[in-house]
Amino acid sequence: MKKTKTPNKRARNPKAKGPMSPNGTRFAEAAAWLAGIGKEFHARGWVLGTSGNFSAVISREPLRLAITSTGLDKGTLAPGQFLEMDETANVVRGDGRPSAEALLHLAIVRGVDAGAVLHTHSVWSTVLSGSHAAQGGIALEGYEMLKGLEGVRTHKHREWLPILENSQDMIELGEHVSKTLRESPGIHGFLLREHGLYTWGAGLQEAKRHVEILEFLMEVLVRSGAAQST
Ligand SMILES: [Zn+2]
Repeated sequence: MKKTKTPNKRARNPKAKGPMSPNGTRFAEAAAWLAGIGKEFHARGWVLGTSGNFSAVISREPLRLAITSTGLDKGTLAPGQFLEMDETANVVRGDGRPSAEALLHLAIVRGVDAGAVLHTHSVWSTVLSGSHAAQGGIALEGYEMLKGLEGVRTHKHREWLPILENSQDMIELGEHVSKTLRESPGIHGFLLREHGLYTWGAGLQEAKRHVEILEFLMEVLVRSGAAQST
């Protein structure tokens, strides 16, 4: 006869799925956080028209991420709309499918051991990643707000924000992301050309702060005209 697990056994098994498992709790917490981030970022105009995607690591062994489902308005996300995916971007919890860009989230989580990855499509990142594509990136230097980036202690810090050529081939782009992270240790984010920003953090709070800092600095560069002379 086929064995069936009782609810109590499921609750005691850390690898078990379901609302009582540690993964289930972490998934619910991450989904609630990410839904709140979606509302805030949408209100700021950073994730309009279903653009952008957000993820958080809820387990390392095996690797599991809570991630936005594709095609949803980020301003009205509900925690129940999030997905749990494994290390190959297969959905293991929730309805829907992750964005094709889920492979980039996985490349970042593996490349820099990030606990959360946030991706926005702001006007500022779109403008700058187009105007500076030939230089391969943008240098952010001399701004007090740089101190909001993890590990940065002075406005004299020079932050290099690489610009990667955009592509719809996510396997190729994922490899490009991994290569960039290997070759530029210490960066806090990168841009996809005329597409948007990817940044991350050890946790969701840090990743959210990095979006706010980098979006602020990109807006300053465009509004002040400083970007044209760099
Ligand atoms: Zn995107």
